[in-house]
Amino acid sequence: MRIIALILPLFTVLAGCVTRPATFASPSRQADAYLSLVATGYCHCGACCGWERNWLGRPVFSSGSAKGRPKSVGLTASGTQAKPGTLAADPAYFPMGTRMFIPGYGYGRVEDTGGAIKAGRIDLYFRSHQEALNWGRRQRDVQVWYP
Ligand SMILES: [Zn+2]
Repeated sequence: MRIIALILPLFTVLAGCVTRPATFASPSRQADAYLSLVATGYCHCGACCGWERNWLGRPVFSSGSAKGRPKSVGLTASGTQAKPGTLAADPAYFPMGTRMFIPGYGYGRVEDTGGAIKAGRIDLYFRSHQEALNWGRRQRDVQVWYP
């Protein structure tokens, strides 16, 4: 009885680590590169993705050349639905479809871009703004698989 009481919480903790938050499977080959990258967190909110609601309550871009134009909230630059494992990166360095393993986050795939996401900086998608804030900004040794 005591053993079960010890094993059960441990199993729950381990299962949580494995299933959350990465949603992409590990690539079957060895990584092409190991790079030290600065990883920040983001979500689909207006503060993270540069949108606001117009007077009709519809989401529009809040800055840049597309300011005021309709914005599809939660849709990545490549047209996929953002979910945990979705990564934003500089396409000049990491083309769309590049896969990565970020320690503490898991496996992800580059499907998005961002104005401030240049060169050695990547952005990790989280379901909520609070989770993104909790991640903050971390330097990580990232495994990279180019498409
Ligand atoms: Zn956010």
